[in-house]
This record gives sequence, C-alpha cells and structure tokens, in this order.
Amino acid sequence: MSLRLYDSLTRRLRLFEPLEPGRVRMYTCGPTVYDRAHIGNFRAFAWEDLLRRYLRFKGYEVCQVMNLTDVDDRTIAAASARGVPLAEVTDPVIEMFLEDWDTLGLEEPEHRPRATRFVAGMIRMIESLSERGLTYESEGSVYFAIGRSPGYGRLAGIDCGSLTATGRAAGDEEYDKDDPRDFVLWKGGDRGADDAVAVWDSPWGPGRPGWHLECSAMAMHHLGETLDIHTGGVDNLFPHHTNEIAQSEGVTGKTFSQFWLHAEHLLVEGRKMSKSLGNCFTIPDLVERGHAPSAIRYLLLSGHHRTQLNFTFDGLEAAAKAVTRLHEFRNRVREAGGGEIDASTDIGKVAARAGAAFEAAMDDDLNVSEALSAVFGLVREANHLLDATHPRAPSGTEAALAVIDGFDRVFGVLAVRDRESSGGDDELVAWATARVGERERARASRDFARADAIRAELEARGVIVEDLAEFTRLRVGGRTIQMPRPLRTAG
Ligand code: AMP
Ligand code: ZN
Repeated sequence: MSLRLYDSLTRRLRLFEPLEPGRVRMYTCGPTVYDRAHIGNFRAFAWEDLLRRYLRFKGYEVCQVMNLTDVDDRTIAAASARGVPLAEVTDPVIEMFLEDWDTLGLEEPEHRPRATRFVAGMIRMIESLSERGLTYESEGSVYFAIGRSPGYGRLAGIDCGSLTATGRAAGDEEYDKDDPRDFVLWKGGDRGADDAVAVWDSPWGPGRPGWHLECSAMAMHHLGETLDIHTGGVDNLFPHHTNEIAQSEGVTGKTFSQFWLHAEHLLVEGRKMSKSLGNCFTIPDLVERGHAPSAIRYLLLSGHHRTQLNFTFDGLEAAAKAVTRLHEFRNRVREAGGGEIDASTDIGKVAARAGAAFEAAMDDDLNVSEALSAVFGLVREANHLLDATHPRAPSGTEAALAVIDGFDRVFGVLAVRDRESSGGDDELVAWATARVGERERARASRDFARADAIRAELEARGVIVEDLAEFTRLRVGGRTIQMPRPLRTAG
C-alpha cells in the first residue's frame, strides 16, 4: 500500500510521491533560539522525526533541512534586554536544543542552517521580488505587497479582504506600511540604536531580514525551488507559512511545496502551555523529576499529529509502562531466538498480520494509534504462544523480532530505552564536550598544535570529531552531539 498524507493546502488526503523518484526533500521550521525549547515544540519535532523515519522505512532517501531561527524579534529582544551581542543569547540556547534533541533520540537532519548566515541570500530574494514589482520601500524597510500576489492566503483559508495583522505578525505594526496586511521583508534599523544587536548592510540601508523570509531563503538554498514536504506546527499556518509561499512563489513562479503538513498543539494537563501557568516544561524539567526520555518520546508520538495531544503526568507513567512492555517483549523474542523468518508458523502468521497492519496504519496519514495497536496486538498474541510452549520456544519467533525492529526504526523508543539501561556514557560525554570547548579556544587563539593534540586525545578515547561549517560534531559511543562553532562576524 502507498503512503497518503493530509495536505493542509489542498485540504485533502493525497497519495505521496516525491518529485524525484526515491528522494524526498523536506523542510522543517526549526526553533527560535531565544530560550530553551519546551515539550510543545518537541511534540512538533518528534512527529517530524517520525515522518522522516517512516519515509526512510518506506525506502526513500530523505534530505531534511531544519533551520535555527537565530535572528527575529524574540532573539533580538532577549539580547537587547541583556545588552549583549545576539550570539551570546542564541549560542547557548542552540547548545541546549541539540542536547535535548539527542536526549530524545531524534535523528539528525541533513542540514541545520542558521538564519544569521544566510542574510546575503535573503537580500537577493528581496531584490528579485522587487524586480517583479511585488515590494515597496518605506523609511528604510521593504514590504511585500500582498495585494499583488494572486492566491495569497489560500493555505490558511483566509480571505485577503478580512486579513488583519495578528500573532507574530503584530510586531510589524510599528513599521510604515501602505496596507496593514502587508508584511516586512527587510526591517530598516539603525546601527546606533539600543537594540542594534543584529544589523546588516543592504541596498536599502542597514537593517535585518523579516522572519518569514529566512525560512524561504534557507529552504530554497538547500532544497531547490520546489520541496516535497514542508512541515511545522499549526500556529505556523498563518502568517508564517502563508508568507513563505507568497515570497517563494513570487521569486520562482513555481509551486513552493507539494505537501504542507502541520502538527496540532500539545496541551499540558488539558491547558494551553504558558509561562504564567507554569506548565511550560522542558525536557530536562521532566528528566529531573525522574521521567525517562524513552517515556517522554513515546508520549509525544502517541497521538495523531492532526489532533491536539494532552500531556499529563499519568499519561507519562502509562507511556513508561508501554515502553517497558515492548522492551521486555523484544528481549523475550530475542532470547527465544527462533531461527528463520517463517510465515507458516503460528508466530510467523501473527507477526505477518501485525507487520502489515502496522504499515497500513502508518500509510494512512501516519495513524499512530492504529499502528501501535497492531504492535501491541502482536505482543499479546505472541506472548500467549510463547507461554504455551514454555520452556521451549515456538519456531518462527524471528518474524516477531523483525516486526518489533521495524516498529522501532520508525518510533525509535526502544533505542532510547536501551541507552537508559546501559547506564550511558555520561562521564565520557561530559569530558569530551569540555575538551572540544578547549580545542575551540585553542583554535581561536591560533594555537593549532594544541588543538591537534586535544583532537588526538579525544580520538584515543574513541571520540570522533568532525568539523562542519556550523557545528563541531562528536560521536561518542552510540551518541552524536553537535556543538555550535563560535559565531564569526555576521553579515
Ligand atoms: P518556535 O520556536 O516558536 O518557532 O516553534 C518551533 C516549533 O514548535 C514550530 O513548529 C511551532 O509550530 C511548534 N510549537 C510551538 N508551540 C507548540 C505546542 N504547544 N505544541 C506543539 N507544537 C508547538
Ligand atoms: Zn519557518
């Protein structure tokens, strides 16, 4: 059976086929790095990881880009409030984000561009939009004229006539627009002003790019003019994704993304998360309370992405039990070691049915509840068969193991659970990250001999160090850790 996904733009369940056979180009709106991401953000990120893994399970090669929004109103406000350069706010937040990412066992996307390193590309996009007559300038800022963009607002199902600036677009109000519905592409700013923590030169004078433009520029840079899938949380439908479409299609004249997928929000104990309610938990908040990352991951993935997910502490306990049940079952069938996969045995038949039901459910717009119920059905029935022949193992248990392994390639909870029981190599990780920090400092002071010596020291303990453009990547034991490199002068 083939994969069908609900597309928010056409409001239909559609058969998924990438433009290039076998290869999926996917863009995911990443975190705004002004503060540590909360579990709501991680609901979206965990579901995007599930989608990515399921595409790979189906045999596709995936090229996923997830940006880091390291310049926008919120990051600038945080830096200005503390009177520090932008990177002093964003670098440590990125580090925390990548730490939480690893804790939950999320797969590394192929690219993680930082907005501050793509400003030149954003300026070029504004220039092309201007050449096409879609922009206007006012007091050093450049705006996108939505009235000149046919079909504007289709994604969010809104009628242009009734549009007003809301939510995160509201910040644009302080600038001078011809029409209140237009959005800013370039915000003019003064290098001398109090909040001048992020100012770049441009043909329109000093300033900074608008938030919506950042994602369009980074997506097209890495993935080309038309993506297969663009994802984000529902709050991104308007204005963010609506404006991304207008800008990107304004430049290329082509469809920006074939599919638009959105995750509904996470509630905590039935309520919207908010700082004032004190229910904006982070991953370390939960871990400190003694909850296992594998249970957190399971809970975040256990509801369909198009319905709100209610996070409760009872639910977290139940998730931990579900993970343990799967873990014990996998160990039991592993120990039984029933030889070849044989569909004619009793276990083989049960496993074949469960495997097919799992895939059919996931093919149906990632119906996780059905998929999980297929897997738990297998656990129940196979456990009965194992009990019946105890202490001898029935033949064909290998087939059950293959289904559980396939399930975990997609859900990734047992992999995280394995790490918890092996005790982890936390000490080695702490040592390695400290040594890498030291090595960065040696490199910054051009003491390359010392930097090389530290690298050799790391390698002697089995730590692999890779220097990427934006990060230093460490592979320690089974873990991958990315540490942001110090920001060079932006612009
Ligand atoms: P932000 O850091 O605010 O740019 O958000 C990062 C991602 O988290 C976006 O895809 C948001 O749509 C998503 N998001 C924000 N709040 C929630 C929530 N309560 N539940 C689920 N996803 C959310
Ligand atoms: Zn975005």
